Parts: sequence; C-alpha cells; structure tokens
Amino acid sequence: MNQNSIFRSTRWRLTVIYTGVISLLLIVCGIGVFEAIAHAHRVTLERELKSVAGTLHDNLESTLKQVGKLEVASQRYLPNLYLYRNSSWFLVEQSQPHIQSPIYQGGYYVRLFDPSGNPIGRAGRQPQGLPITSGESDCQLIEDSLGNRYQEISLPLSLHSPDSNSLWGYLQVGRSWQEFNDYLATVRLIVFWGTPLILLLVLVVSWWLAGIAMQPLYQSYRQIQQFTTDAAHELRTPLAALRATVESLVRMPNFSEAEARDILKVVERQNQRLSELVSDLLFLSRLDRRIYQGERSLCSLQDTIADIEEELAALALEKQVTLTTDIRVQTSVPVMGNEEQLYRMVFNLVANAINYTPAGGRVTIILDYRDNQALIKVRDTGIGIASEELNKIFERFYRVENDRSRSTGGSGLGLPIARAIAKSHQGSIEVQSELGRGSTFTIKLPVSN
Ligand code: ADP
Repeated sequence: MNQNSIFRSTRWRLTVIYTGVISLLLIVCGIGVFEAIAHAHRVTLERELKSVAGTLHDNLESTLKQVGKLEVASQRYLPNLYLYRNSSWFLVEQSQPHIQSPIYQGGYYVRLFDPSGNPIGRAGRQPQGLPITSGESDCQLIEDSLGNRYQEISLPLSLHSPDSNSLWGYLQVGRSWQEFNDYLATVRLIVFWGTPLILLLVLVVSWWLAGIAMQPLYQSYRQIQQFTTDAAHELRTPLAALRATVESLVRMPNFSEAEARDILKVVERQNQRLSELVSDLLFLSRLDRRIYQGERSLCSLQDTIADIEEELAALALEKQVTLTTDIRVQTSVPVMGNEEQLYRMVFNLVANAINYTPAGGRVTIILDYRDNQALIKVRDTGIGIASEELNKIFERFYRVENDRSRSTGGSGLGLPIARAIAKSHQGSIEVQSELGRGSTFTIKLPVSN
C-alpha cells in the first residue's frame, strides 16, 4: 500500500466516522424535534377544544330551562342542528340568526344527551358511525366507522333555577384529528425524503472536513519524507568521497608515506563533515523534542558578541569583509539560557553574513534593548535573499541556489539550528533582505531582570 492510498483510506475512514456521528446526532435531534412539534400541536388542539367546549357549555347553560329540552335560544349556538324525536333525526330550520362561534370554522361536532344517555341533538359536523360514549368521561379519543380519529370532551349541563341545581344532560364536543394527522404525515414525508439528501450532504461535508483534518498530517509527512531524502543526500556526498578515496588507495600497488598522509587527511576531513552533520541533526532533533535544553545560566550577550567577533575576525579578513560590532546598550543585557547554544546561534548568523558577502562588504553585529527584549541584529551588505526564498531558508537543508551555496560548504542546517535555539529560549529570529543589497537577521530574546 503506498502512502497516497494510506492517506486516502484514512480520509475515507474519517469520513465514515464523521458521517456516522453527525447522522446519529441529526437523527436523534430530528426525532426530538418531530416529537416536540407533534406534542406542541396536540396540546394546542386540546386547548382549543377545551376552550370551544367551555364557551359553548356556558352559553348553552344560560339558555336551558327544562330538563331534556333544547330551547329556541339555545339553538342559536348550534349550527346544522338535528334533533332526535321518535327514534329519528330531524334537521331544525332555524329562524334566528346564528351566533358566530368557532364551531363554524373548526370542523367540530356537538352531541347532546339527557342524564340517562339518550340522544337529544347533534350539531356542527356530522361524522358517520361515531360510537356513543359516556357523558361522564372527561376527554377521550374515539374513532368513527371510517377509522377517522376524534378528540372528544364531555361536560355536564345543569339547570340554574333559583331553588334547584339539577342536571339537564351532557354536552359532548369533538374535533377531528384528520388535519393533525395529515400535518404529521407531511412532516414524516419531508423527513423521509429529506434524510437521504441531508446524509449525502453530510457525506460531502465530512469528506471535506476529513481532508482539512488530514492536511497538517499530510504536510508533516511530506516534510519528514523531504527531510529523509535531504539527509540521505547530504550523507551520501562525504560517504561517496570516502569510498572513492579508500578504493583508490586499495588499487595502488604501493604508496609512499606522504601519499598515505594526504589520503588520510581526506578521510579525516570527510569523516569530520559526517560527524558534524550527524551531531547537528541529533542536536536539532533533541531541541525539537524538548528533551534537551542544556545547562542554563545568566549569560551576557556583550561577552558572546565580543567572543564571536574575535573568533570570526580571521574569516572576515580572509574574505576581505569588514566585521564590526555596534553595542547600543550601556549596561549588561543578561539573558537566561545556555551559553554554548546562544553562542552557536549568533555565530551561525555572523558566519553566514561573512560567507554571503562579497569582498569589500561589511558585516555589523548590533546589540540593542527594547520592550524588555534583547535585540541582536546581524546586518550585512551581501548578496541578499529573494523575497520568495525568505520563508524557506529556515527549512532544514534548504539552500538558495544550491550550487552557489555549496561552494561555501554549508549543509543548510545553520539557520534551522539558530531558529531552534532561539525558540528554546522563548525568542525568535526574523529576516529582512533585499537581493543584491544585503540582509539583516534580527534575534529577539527575553531579558532576565
Ligand atoms: P548554509 O549552511 O548553506 O549556510 P543556512 O541554513 O545557514 O545553510 O542558510 C540557508 C541558506 O540561506 C544559505 O544557503 C543561503 O543561501 C541563505 N543565507 C543565509 N544567510 C544569508 C545571508 N546573510 N545572505 C544571503 N543569503 C543567506
């Protein structure tokens, strides 16, 4: 399995996990919302039914005078009224105008019974085959012969005469649940057809999210790959030189002591190069993993800069570059850190500045103090760095225009090491440069008070 297919299969696995989790959450939330909507609707319908029944009950009661008899005044509240007489239903022709009530609009039916449960009248909607129910049960769900469901409320009607408070009969008001059921069926249909669409969308979004999540992994994987290739490449050059030297020695039938010495010098040089490379890599990896910080003490940056100037004076002379220092602070600038590492960090920058500055140029090491930070600037009038290279020069083994840099003997680890040291001292390194005019590297380090 190659790396691309590993990443692709991991991305798919992540996508499936995301889709599964998001879908599960959506389904749980969807069911919750559906139940909440249905409940709210049911409660509203019940409340409406109770209010309509209550109003009708009060209106009717105020008109009743005789047990089991519906007065003409009562009929005004009951649209589409049928009365039960001699075992048959008669539609009542109403002479008086109706009083507007919600019964007219809401699809309600009304049934009236005497105290023994015998029908007196019915009004409003006229459902077919509705079962006779007891007037004493308060609120119930019933079904007609066609299977339509109704919610029904029963209320007792009393006669209010000055001396008695006797029962007139019962009022039953019901409402069809058809509308509610239709509404729920529509919601269910939308959910049923909407879910696959939403899941498809979730799948696409999950694939995209998994891609974003994989990006840094993929990038660091590519960086490690690049690093391994670069490291192998760097190691190969001195190893090849060593091999060629030893082989030429083996092929010589005999050689003088002077020749042997020359050859051993080459071997020693290449060996040293290899050792430096390996120890630089080890050093970087330890700083990266923060397992090594070295001994820490209060270091004087003035001393560090003076020592570096002294050590690199010979190189500057050889390259015909003027190396100067510009200390802009009066008192000592103490930094808590590892003296050897701080030295190495500034040394790398100054050595680079000398190496990348043509003869006749100038390199200045400036020490300044601002906002509780020590600033070390290494300024040169050298070849400069193109703006598109500025980010890359801190990458391991990166060299601007390999061939030109190779002549300086650098391995491309100087700046990454300097930056790693600055970071491990809670500092930073920035660079400003202009091609052909020179560069300024600025190290910022927190000062210990
Ligand atoms: P090297 O060992 O090749 O110098 P570094 O990591 O120190 O590696 O630097 C990386 C690259 O950055 C160098 O190859 C060089 O091209 C560029 N560079 C670093 N310092 C300077 C500078 N002062 N002026 C111009 N280019 C520089």
